[in-house]
Amino acid sequence: SDILHIVGGGMAGSEAAWQAAQAGVRVVIHEMRPQVGTFAHKTGNLAEMVCSNSFRSDDSEQNAVGLLHWEMRAAGGLIMASADAHRLPAGGALAVDRDPFAETVTARLMAHPLISVSYEEVTALPDDGHWIIATGPLTSPGLGAAIQAETGAEALAFFDAIAPIVHFESIDMDTAWLQSRYDKGETEEERTAYINCPMDKAQYNAFIDALLAADKTEFHEGETAGYFDGCLPIEVMAERGRETLRHGPMKPVGLTDAHRPTDKPYAVVQLRRDNALGTLYNIVGFQTKMKYGAQTAVFKMIPGLENAAFARLGGIHRNTFLNSPTLLDSQMRLKSRPHIRFAGQVTGVEGYVESAAMGLLAGRMAAAEILGRPIEAPPFTTAMGALVNHITGGAEAKTFQPMNVNFGLFPPLEDARGGRRGRKERYKGYTDRAKEDWQAWLAAST
Ligand code: FAD
Repeated sequence: SDILHIVGGGMAGSEAAWQAAQAGVRVVIHEMRPQVGTFAHKTGNLAEMVCSNSFRSDDSEQNAVGLLHWEMRAAGGLIMASADAHRLPAGGALAVDRDPFAETVTARLMAHPLISVSYEEVTALPDDGHWIIATGPLTSPGLGAAIQAETGAEALAFFDAIAPIVHFESIDMDTAWLQSRYDKGETEEERTAYINCPMDKAQYNAFIDALLAADKTEFHEGETAGYFDGCLPIEVMAERGRETLRHGPMKPVGLTDAHRPTDKPYAVVQLRRDNALGTLYNIVGFQTKMKYGAQTAVFKMIPGLENAAFARLGGIHRNTFLNSPTLLDSQMRLKSRPHIRFAGQVTGVEGYVESAAMGLLAGRMAAAEILGRPIEAPPFTTAMGALVNHITGGAEAKTFQPMNVNFGLFPPLEDARGGRRGRKERYKGYTDRAKEDWQAWLAAST
């Protein structure tokens, strides 16, 4: 049949339904609320914002999430139109009046002649038809089990453990150096896969003190139920003993300071490449529940990271997500069952905006396929393309963790546009290029 079924009417499912219906395809949304709830959702509305009411920066010239807003607006996105209609004053950010926003999304979807909503929990993977699964970070346990049965238990996680990610260009390589522990690896690239930041005893002790004193966030009630195992936050490791980190992620063995070869570091912080481009590095083992302000202050105490620019800060949340780099193709289809696409936070993006964006793409791709004129993924010079390319291919599969959109995911600018310019001009270069390429992709794919 040529009906598109969408499981989950959240940020992603709502946008996917809208895009597919606007393209002329009949859509059924299967949503479990209000019959079956989650610990975070409070209403039966589609596209409910479960926590903050912010879509973050609306600056489409200097900010990657603002650029994603721009691209979704250009594509006639329902989530952006509804957010704009219920915008609250918030400086450069797009803050949203959450209840009228969700009510608007719900009403516009219900009023669409090609869309219907079926209020039910889906607990099995469908055998045929056209499907998008967009059940989000709180995918119901029954469906989670069905997905794991298909993908293997390792390939669907129930918690994220996000280590902070740093822009390579902001790391001081006069202090840090490239080396894998014990110089392990077959190739020069593997032997130099890590960036190492050395600490002496005084620096280590000051760092532990700062970790212990930092402000932390708590898990929501109901959030830890059942699943949480392994991946301790660094501050919890520090609480277990002053030396715990020095024997764990900060152990100094097998490493020689390239700048001061005779000084044996007391502890070493390692960063590992986070994307194929080599523009982003994550701090190994540094998942944390410290508040964002505290994280920036504490991590800048690490020698070599004094001026670090963070592409994202660390976190640990209840979050159901796939190992998309191994499971999904560039069309967001499950490789083992290509009639099923995934979209939204369950694909390993993070945030309302990113989730809606992946819904927008999946909806368009599914509709195009049903209509017999499939479309390519957008170029990764666009925010949409950069994000979908990251989750379906660019990210390291072994250490895959959810990602926000950021300029580190974009291919560097060619010289004429990037050159040796300052950050502001470079970001403008990225966003100008993205807008041009997004417009071209939209024109070619509709
Ligand atoms: P959702 O919006 O969660 O939509 C998924 C939908 O699927 C839900 O309506 C759910 O009821 C339904 N569903 C689940 N299982 C089934 C099933 N088996 N059958 C039928 N329907 C099903 N992001 C931010 O940007 N800012 C924040 O402040 C923020 N805070 C968060 C706080 C918490 C506690 C959590 C859990 C998440 C938070 N997020 C935040 C992430 C946010 O939830 C997502 O970015 C966004 O809502 C994801 O969109 P989605 O469409 O993928 O999932």
